Amino acid sequence: MEEQFSRKALERFKDPRNYEELEEPDGHARITGPCGDTMEFWIQVEEGIVTAASFTTTGCGPSRACGSMATELAEGKTVREAGRIEQKDILEALDGMPEEHQHCALLASNTLKAAVADFMARQAARGNPPQEGDSACSSCDKDSCSARNKGENESLEDFLERQALEARLCHIGHKILVLSGKGGVGKSTVAVNIAVSLMMAGKRVGLLDVDIHGPSIPKMLGLEGSAVENNEGNIVPVELGTLKVISLGFFLRNEDDAVIWRGPMKMGVIKQFLKDVEWGDLDYLVVDSPPGTGDEPLSVCQLLPNADGAVVVTTPQDVSVSDVRKSITFCRQLNMPVLGVVENMSGFVCPHCGEITEIFKTGGGARMANQMGVPFLGGIPLDPGVANACDAGRPYTHHFPDTPAGLAFKKIIDPILALDK
Ligand code: ADP
Repeated sequence: MEEQFSRKALERFKDPRNYEELEEPDGHARITGPCGDTMEFWIQVEEGIVTAASFTTTGCGPSRACGSMATELAEGKTVREAGRIEQKDILEALDGMPEEHQHCALLASNTLKAAVADFMARQAARGNPPQEGDSACSSCDKDSCSARNKGENESLEDFLERQALEARLCHIGHKILVLSGKGGVGKSTVAVNIAVSLMMAGKRVGLLDVDIHGPSIPKMLGLEGSAVENNEGNIVPVELGTLKVISLGFFLRNEDDAVIWRGPMKMGVIKQFLKDVEWGDLDYLVVDSPPGTGDEPLSVCQLLPNADGAVVVTTPQDVSVSDVRKSITFCRQLNMPVLGVVENMSGFVCPHCGEITEIFKTGGGARMANQMGVPFLGGIPLDPGVANACDAGRPYTHHFPDTPAGLAFKKIIDPILALDK
């Protein structure tokens, strides 16, 4: 097996550079990776420079090689630079490693980052707020960034997780949630068409489908069966033109899989999607949330505390309109702005003559929005063409922009586009 490893890695299997506890370290962390190996890191810092770094691991050769290389890369660097050492830097410095052992480099870089974060937390506790350049977060150097400091009652693990999440979301201009009081009202249809309309308006857009009950977006965009790539532990979105898409549906072997997941598993997946997807720089992220006002949409809202707001989808039937009141109250309780209400399936478009007939009493959405003091974004007619386009995996607004439904979808995005001005 050893012949799969580079000479540099093999040397460190046998004789890791640092393999001991540092006395009186300025930063220390211990992390157990998904493989069960535990790594510990210690750093000493003088005037913002890592003067010594050391580690131990319960893992064997590859783990020792990665920890050892991480210590060498960290020493002599500023704390900020050390906190930015990534898995790929360690692998490159070792001249590569077989794929099944690359997670050791991820564990080493994460443990080093955690030791840097611990150093910063200790500094802050001593009344020395981090200096410009100390941040382990690789997104920005803003003093005001909430990802910069560990909260008083926050554990190190929670801090690192929050930092990773905020670093990722920091590259996204506007986050829009699409919510509905219940399933089947066309929430996913509206989310897809908002995302595609924004893309057609020249924006860089991501569409995230965390509707655990029915991740229907791959089907609606003709992306069923698309393989999601993994780039060094990051999830790479599937691309449709310039639209970047991630859906739980890409990860399920069969459609019923998600339904049997327990609550914490669902929450973990939602968090992982927000933290680990490599969106890059986006103008908008449109999130198709689970329906209702229970734990699942609650987690989504809590994980996106700085979202620009929610679009709430309803249908003209009374029950749905009353469900949507609950959604608006839910947003208010969470301080989530409501960008507006969309009344879907509002009037029926005759496929022969194009005439719109009101099968249900329409206008309930507008009235309710008015009563609750939130904007009404418009009504989308019930059009068999919309359902057919969804089934055929063709985004309706792209293929039929000049129909009543196409024009209605386009109008909904006006207040969303205004956010970017
Ligand atoms: P939800 O996300 O709220 O569960 P979906 O977006 O999956 O709802 O829509 C449910 C069904 O209704 C889908 O088959 C979709 O094609 C259809 N549908 C949604 N909006 C319309 C519309 N305006 N006209 C015709 N069919 C629609």
